[in-house]
Amino acid sequence: MCIARRALETIAAHAREALPAECCGVLLGTANEIVEAVRTRNLSEDPSRYSLDPKGHIDARRAARSRGLEVMGFYHSHAHSEPKPSIADLAEATYPGHLYLIVRPRADGAKVRVFRFEEEGFLEVGFMTTS
Ligand SMILES: [Zn+2]
Repeated sequence: MCIARRALETIAAHAREALPAECCGVLLGTANEIVEAVRTRNLSEDPSRYSLDPKGHIDARRAARSRGLEVMGFYHSHAHSEPKPSIADLAEATYPGHLYLIVRPRADGAKVRVFRFEEEGFLEVGFMTTS
């Protein structure tokens, strides 16, 4: 699993801008690479939760198709906690086989962990930090 530098930068910047709330978006790519991150609105009014705007999700699917990419999964931030899936994240995950990237913003970059959602739960498939 690899992630394009540009996608990582988009995600890290989005997470910092959304503080103190969480941000979310859609990951586009091909078989084994996240090529692009598409920001979507977070409809949750609870700053420590996220609810991906369904319209943003549909728009991202359309954008992916038109450019020969796939929707590989989703990203969201944990403003104040480690980038690992919460109980709510597990309860609300609905796309088996998709990637769930979680980012924790830091003053000088971000810490990112990537999980694949499988029947048995989240399986970690990647870890990176930016600075
Ligand atoms: Zn979460």
